[in-house]
Amino acid sequence: GIESLADLEKLVVLGHGNSGTIYKVRHRWSNSIYALKVLRFSQDAIELHRQAACEAEILKRVDSQYVVKCHGVLDNGTDVESGDLCFVMEYMEGGSLHDVVRVHGQLPEKDISNVAKRVLEGLKYLHEMQIVHRDIKPSNLLTNSRGEVKIADFGVSQVMASAHDTDNSCAGTCAYMSPERFDHYRWARGENEGFAGDVWSLGVAMLECYMGHFPLTAPGHRPDWATLICAVCFSEPPEMETASPEFQNFVQCCLEKDWRRRATVQELLNHPFVTKCSTTTEELEEGLPG
Ligand code: ADP
Ligand code: MG
Repeated sequence: GIESLADLEKLVVLGHGNSGTIYKVRHRWSNSIYALKVLRFSQDAIELHRQAACEAEILKRVDSQYVVKCHGVLDNGTDVESGDLCFVMEYMEGGSLHDVVRVHGQLPEKDISNVAKRVLEGLKYLHEMQIVHRDIKPSNLLTNSRGEVKIADFGVSQVMASAHDTDNSCAGTCAYMSPERFDHYRWARGENEGFAGDVWSLGVAMLECYMGHFPLTAPGHRPDWATLICAVCFSEPPEMETASPEFQNFVQCCLEKDWRRRATVQELLNHPFVTKCSTTTEELEEGLPG
């Protein structure tokens, strides 16, 4: 692991997020390149500290080829103000899917299918660890020149109580519980908007790759809240005229408004749109456009 911020030389800024700044850095001794996410806090932002600690905890625990690797969590270093937190991350030189779409416009279905498959594998891994990402979107899906796509940014993620814990705590009282309280228990266990919410977000993100812009509202300007709520909750997603029937159905399965009827990650991994993705190693070497 990387032990000191002093060993890292900042090269360029890769991105500004809600939480801080991401730099491309070079490790002075090994010459390896990393991405450094620096979270900055004002003194009294307790909630931000709590969420950052949660992000750090998740990053330390996850280890999957479908999730951006964390090589170290550093704090109170010599050149950071105390309280700031830094994550040393695997550098993804292809940038985010948001950047890829901004530069290349609409992606071909073959690439979207490859992205969907990898993100689903990542979600399967996270959900099995009881982690709900809660912010799946193109700018949080990072690419590299090997054609890999990995989930990043656990800034608003949540670790759910495990089903096991909840089963124990509810023993003895469940029999007298009303239907809506059962629903509440399911919610607390993340079976509600939790895990299914990541699937919805994946559907929107894949539709965005197909259309080249955020798909649920008119392109060009930022929608206000009312427009957005209306589009998400009550409108039908746009027609995908040039898409294959498999792709259209895949998006439909993700964008099912009733979370109980929405496809699960495992179901989507078996979906023809994903299984027909037969990306060869050679094609992977070529990578996503750019
Ligand atoms: P925030 O929580 O502030 O949104 P992110 O972790 O999503 O921070 O990073 C913001 C942006 O910085 C990303 O959309 C991407 O463009 C860039 N970025 C983040 N991590 C990396 C990385 N490991 N490699 C390359 N670029 C990155
Ligand atoms: Mg982000």
